[in-house]
Amino acid sequence: MIIPKAGKLTPEQLAEVERIAGEFDCSILEIVGRNRCIYAILGDEGRELMFNRLRGLDYLARVDLIESPYKSMDRKSALAEHQVKVGETSVGEGGPFFIGGHCTVDPAEPNLYLETAAALKEVGVHALRGGVWKPRTNPYSYQGVSKALEIVLEAKARTGLPVDVEVMDTEQLEIAVDAGVDILQIGTRNALNYSLLKEVGKKTTGSSTAVLLKRGRHMAPPNEFIAAAEYIVAAGNPNVMLCPRGTMPALDGYRNQPDESITPLLKNKTWAPIVVDPSHSVGRDEYVPACCMAAVAYGADGLCIEAHIDPAKGIGDDPKQAVTPAAFAEIMAACRDIWPRRYQPDSLG
Ligand code: PEP
Ligand code: MN
Repeated sequence: MIIPKAGKLTPEQLAEVERIAGEFDCSILEIVGRNRCIYAILGDEGRELMFNRLRGLDYLARVDLIESPYKSMDRKSALAEHQVKVGETSVGEGGPFFIGGHCTVDPAEPNLYLETAAALKEVGVHALRGGVWKPRTNPYSYQGVSKALEIVLEAKARTGLPVDVEVMDTEQLEIAVDAGVDILQIGTRNALNYSLLKEVGKKTTGSSTAVLLKRGRHMAPPNEFIAAAEYIVAAGNPNVMLCPRGTMPALDGYRNQPDESITPLLKNKTWAPIVVDPSHSVGRDEYVPACCMAAVAYGADGLCIEAHIDPAKGIGDDPKQAVTPAAFAEIMAACRDIWPRRYQPDSLG
């Protein structure tokens, strides 16, 4: 991992670094951050001679060996200083980051979404979620339509809040990015779709677009989750947030196996903010507040919660698991109370 003294290497400096790395069968990946670029060494990094040659270049501030399989996501990587920002908010700074909104935006009832958005803005959420295209287990359930994106964009215009929309393929990715969606959600079913993850990183290189990567439903080890995020970062976008959302098989009575407790393990391995989704984890509005508090106690930087002005009128998951804006406000207060006592990993010293 290479950190230049200036914000970015000049083309000549980059060419020199690439030439040296190439002599040792390594290549260089430029990762464009908000304030600076860093450069990952891809290939067998452990070549002492290569390191000595690179360390001798006077325009480099640091050349570090990152041994983990996820070089950019590692807590010891130069990206550890990278702040993921959504709109004007740095995720995980000063309190939990809250995303709220419908599971699914009903194109026949735009006002329901617009009213939810206004109420959540009032409550103080940082970003709105709204399902436009939906990954449904039943092929005959409502699948979503692009038209619903217009409603989400209208809510963004009215509230001034950033918006989070799931994309499942490159066509939807293109539409969402062109429309200025602020957070691209990659759902649990696509968490291991490496081609899509690469496309997401490529398409948003150098932009301020953030990515909320959900944990795959059958993902066992934390490393697999972090490695999936590495695909996005390595393809060019370091603005990644990791989202535990419950795994399969489900715990009897819950929708999934709640996994907010994975948060401390992740925080010890990676710098990326952890934004827990309690709604898909427990799957019932009644259990959502407790899951949110547990997530924050475990050290989560934020929460992505399904919320609806009138859950019974919702489509998708909303009738079962969305909380009302009033309940959302209570959740926010409870989580802010816990925030100062949350788990935090020891500093690396
Ligand atoms: C959702 O957020 O509505 C959703 C489908 O989530 P997941 O990918 O976690 O199932
Ligand atoms: Mn949902």
